[in-house]
Amino acid sequence: MSNEAANISGESQRARWKYLDRILSRPGPFTDPDWEPGEPVIESLSRSKILVIGAGGLGCEILKNLALSGFKDLHVIDMDTIDVSNLNRQFLFRHADVGKHKAEVAARFVEKRVKGVKITPYCGKIQDKDEEYYMQFAMIVCGLDSIEARRWINATLVGMVDMQNPDSLKPLIDGGTEGFKGQARVIFPTMTSCIECQLDMHAPRAAVPLCTLATIPRQPQHCIEWAHIIAWEEERKDITLDNDDPEHITWLYQKALKRAQEFDISGVTYSMTQGVVKNIIPAIASTNAIVAASCCNEAFKIATNTNPFLGFPETDNYMMYTGDESVYTYTFQHMKKPDCPVCSEENLARPLQVDSRSSLQEFLEGLAERPEAQLKKPSIRSEEKSLYYQFPPDLEEQTRGNLSKKLADLVSNGEEVAITDPAFPLQFKYKLIFQ
Ligand SMILES: [Zn+2]
Repeated sequence: MSNEAANISGESQRARWKYLDRILSRPGPFTDPDWEPGEPVIESLSRSKILVIGAGGLGCEILKNLALSGFKDLHVIDMDTIDVSNLNRQFLFRHADVGKHKAEVAARFVEKRVKGVKITPYCGKIQDKDEEYYMQFAMIVCGLDSIEARRWINATLVGMVDMQNPDSLKPLIDGGTEGFKGQARVIFPTMTSCIECQLDMHAPRAAVPLCTLATIPRQPQHCIEWAHIIAWEEERKDITLDNDDPEHITWLYQKALKRAQEFDISGVTYSMTQGVVKNIIPAIASTNAIVAASCCNEAFKIATNTNPFLGFPETDNYMMYTGDESVYTYTFQHMKKPDCPVCSEENLARPLQVDSRSSLQEFLEGLAERPEAQLKKPSIRSEEKSLYYQFPPDLEEQTRGNLSKKLADLVSNGEEVAITDPAFPLQFKYKLIFQ
């Protein structure tokens, strides 16, 4: 290519970014008086290393939007492979991609389409990576469908903050959708309210009473919950259920299917089993587009400082959107909880009213339904001793006998208990108050 031709092609490349560059090349009505427009900010945007977690419905939108917003160094993590049912909204995937890893296919597609963007995929779990890995990013944008994964990354990022090192504070932008509803929020770990503080915004689905599952299932979901909660416990007690292990899901699916046939219930499928077990909610393409767009605009504003953004300093940090009943959106400041088990400095014990006559087992089961706890495999210790441990197996066996005991026989009124769950790197403290 001659020099002239190379220049023309360079110019035409630059022309594509004309309107974006304009925002970055002159002050606007909302820019800070100290803000300096021009090449350095364009440059720093393109160097800014961003991690996208999730390459599904929201993730496809987020990757596309960030690439078209001037970010050039993107990383993406997703452990899933492409299913034919994804194709209606996960537009970076084609029929020929079914069975391939989402992160890999999404990265290659966007790289091909937006020249100059580099996307590094990782096909695996966020839990595979350590603090050193997360430390390399300027910020993290999540498009996840699981509350568990959000809680894990949130606790990890809060734990990484070192007051002596401003670089250790990684803004977390989180998008989420559920049918026609969604939210975009920005978390500055330790400075703003965190995902754990906001957990009660995602109340767990109304739990089906155990007796319905055990005796008279009415819906295919009841049969899956039965396989999940009861059958697994009875037949595969020694194996820790891994929601991401296809063999485990297949086992649950076959159990649920058999039970559904016994009760003449139809509709149990593999993907429904996966959905129920992983608590996956239905997705609508347009809601994903709205929420992802809002997340990416916040990422752009945080990276460039062109405009005020959610979460800093001391401002609104949560945008909710609902299209359920007409259209409504509201942005507010969600306040930090002084007793948040993740971001509160003191990690105060939360007072909790309990019935002293209920058994330890009933108490632990109740934690799954408490909006601010939502723990499925809790282990518990009092100030004095281990009350119940899920792992390791010998400790489980030693403490199992306590499950049927009454709370009054295990702890005293006002005693503090500490609860842990293998899914989260944190500890919950409750002060048990007898009713
Ligand atoms: Zn918090």
